[in-house]
Amino acid sequence: MADCAHLNGITTVRQPARRECEECVKMGASWVHLRTCQTCGATLCCDSSPNHHATKHAKHSHHPVVASAEPGERWLYCYPDEAFAEY
Ligand SMILES: [Zn+2]
Ligand SMILES: [Zn+2]
Ligand SMILES: [Zn+2]
Repeated sequence: MADCAHLNGITTVRQPARRECEECVKMGASWVHLRTCQTCGATLCCDSSPNHHATKHAKHSHHPVVASAEPGERWLYCYPDEAFAEY
């Protein structure tokens, strides 16, 4: 595992409830890839998407870790430590 207490503290990875960015759906916007917040379970769009909702959420809510919500991808990312881990 990575040298990051946030990532090391995760025992069960939260999966997306739905494969859509909940903020983009409200705005009528589109997204590229999805990430699931490991603190609250919100599924939001990545930095390749126009609205960067996952990054905005991490900064505003201080929820450090997201997981990829893309099928077949099994990794976690910690914003404050800029650390990746596969699981
Ligand atoms: Zn961390
Ligand atoms: Zn979005
Ligand atoms: Zn969150």
